[in-house]
Amino acid sequence: MEELDYEKLVNGAKELRVELTSFQLDQLTLFHSLLMDWNQKMNLTRISPEETVPKHFLDSLTLRVIPDFTGEGRLIDVGTGAGFPGIPLKIAFPSLDVTLMDATRKKLTFLESVIESLQLRGVRVAHNRAEDAGKDPQHRQRYDWVVARAVAHMPQLMEWLIPLAKPGGQVVAMKSSNAKEEITQSLDVIHRLKGADPEIIEVKIPDESITRLLAVVRMNRSSATDRSSEGKYIENTGKGITKSVNHKRRKGSEHGR
Ligand code: SAH
Repeated sequence: MEELDYEKLVNGAKELRVELTSFQLDQLTLFHSLLMDWNQKMNLTRISPEETVPKHFLDSLTLRVIPDFTGEGRLIDVGTGAGFPGIPLKIAFPSLDVTLMDATRKKLTFLESVIESLQLRGVRVAHNRAEDAGKDPQHRQRYDWVVARAVAHMPQLMEWLIPLAKPGGQVVAMKSSNAKEEITQSLDVIHRLKGADPEIIEVKIPDESITRLLAVVRMNRSSATDRSSEGKYIENTGKGITKSVNHKRRKGSEHGR
């Protein structure tokens, strides 16, 4: 069995303000070994065992830097694949209620096995296509957090994710550092679906040269949309719209600009 680099994991998580207990480390270790075992039979991840800590585990935990992310409420991970970011988030934040959605059944079979082996409660798989889930009363406007990593281009992704968020909920697209143009292209869709201007949070993944870009869209609390800030993002592009938080939690709300 491949060993996880515990020091990198514990210290990296700490930098993201996540304290992992030895129980949680055991759960992540078991998840990793199941991932490696199953990966021999089916294509779950191309990330090498050595890279699992930064590129899968720490990357999944970057959501922690979002000011309002307290690790509670209902979260859906759309296009979860082998469980990223959903499973590491569930392990690190046990109070979070997690739905792992994917269109591919065999990925969900793996995740069911993970849930059972780790004895996780308050987490389930959902076999849906994202574009259908938004019309399904079981999923439509049901989540406080709607997240996705490496699933689709921003305009398409926003069409899929926004309908799943509750009023006042937040949609988080985990993007690479060069995604700013893609985000700009999605503004029309976001506004049409009554989302606020995206807040862009850059997070350096601890110990790595990779920067994760989180595009965070807050849904208006009421259906009477406040469109007053519409267009502001475009005006501001390149002038401070990008916020680097460098793993530090910020105080106060900066949403609804
Ligand atoms: N989020 C994971 C997996 C990314 S791969 C990670 O970052 O590691 C993309 C995943 O999205 C695949 O598992 C694929 O089956 C799923 N997917 C692609 N299109 C989808 C759709 N329309 N609805 C639901 N899942 C989809």
